[in-house]
Amino acid sequence: MRYEAPESLEGAVALLAGANGDARVLAGGTDLLVQMRVDIVEPELIVDIKKIAQTRTITEDKGGWRIGAAVTGAELKEHPRLKKVWPGVVEAANLIGSTQVQGRATLGGNLCNGSPAADSVPALIAGGAVATLAGPQGLRDLPVEDVMLGPRKLALRKGEIVVSFWLPPRPPRSSDAYLRFIPRTEMDIAVVGVGVSLAIDETGTITAARVGLGAVAPRVLLVREAAAAIVGTRLDRAAQDQLEAAVRAVCAPIDDKRGTVEFRIQVAGVLARRAALIALDRARTN
Ligand SMILES: Cc1cc2nc3c(=O)[nH]c(=O)nc-3n(C[C@H](O)[C@H](O)[C@H](O)COP(=O)(O)OP(=O)(O)OC[C@H]3O[C@@H](n4cnc5c(N)ncnc54)[C@H](O)[C@@H]3O)c2cc1C
Repeated sequence: MRYEAPESLEGAVALLAGANGDARVLAGGTDLLVQMRVDIVEPELIVDIKKIAQTRTITEDKGGWRIGAAVTGAELKEHPRLKKVWPGVVEAANLIGSTQVQGRATLGGNLCNGSPAADSVPALIAGGAVATLAGPQGLRDLPVEDVMLGPRKLALRKGEIVVSFWLPPRPPRSSDAYLRFIPRTEMDIAVVGVGVSLAIDETGTITAARVGLGAVAPRVLLVREAAAAIVGTRLDRAAQDQLEAAVRAVCAPIDDKRGTVEFRIQVAGVLARRAALIALDRARTN
């Protein structure tokens, strides 16, 4: 096995594009190294992207925020301004694993591991995040909801890496929230994860919303029907019921020891309502 740690995007892309056997990007390694240990993957080439500046920075960009794909959950938590504008994204990243795991685990790795239960992905989707990819043909942008196609299946082409995520500008009175359910208090995989981002006008009416839903389908979903159910409302009880129904309608979960199909569908609705109420509360004071 060959290990490379290029310092430029071009260098990383050239290595990945030129590889003959299985080549993998290494970010925090909290998924990749575990999978290598148990022989799920046996890469011939590992390309560590942590020396590439664009993957490691958090910057303001076009009125929004650009977060490098190799920025860790711990680094997000230490960024007070980002935390204030995108509390849901930051709290989602900080649910990943333990304190030790958060010091390594990155947003790019969480998405590119291709797990439908990845915690940061519903929050990024709710936030309208766009992934910037670098590949042999140059840079291209892809909404985060279009990156994952199914379990371990991504829309990335050969040689492509995720460089960063762009979160759009925040209007006044807008915020987000992420909630997940796990069978114990930490260190477990989401049975359901829901991210909600919304904006309200001066009367408290919701003017825009996005809902990301994880762990209840083969990939993380953008649930447009759920957003439509609450836009134009003040999230009264009737709107909450509509939101719950819209979320439950798109759930197609697996049945396993951590939750039955019925349980996951039930919890998805409850978490969506609670996340929307938290986002609304935050938006009122933002
Ligand atoms: C103890 C433990 C607890 C965990 N708990 C959680 C949890 O609660 N919630 C959760 O969602 N996950 C959890 N995980 C999984 C893991 O920590 C996360 O998915 C993490 O975000 C992965 O990031 P990483 O930087 O470590 O990725 P890596 O392991 O470096 O990479 C993961 C995959 O993505 C690819 N990749 C990485 N970065 C890029 C990029 N920029 N472009 C293209 N491909 C890329 C790699 O090639 C690899 O296939 C846990 C893992 C452990 C070991």
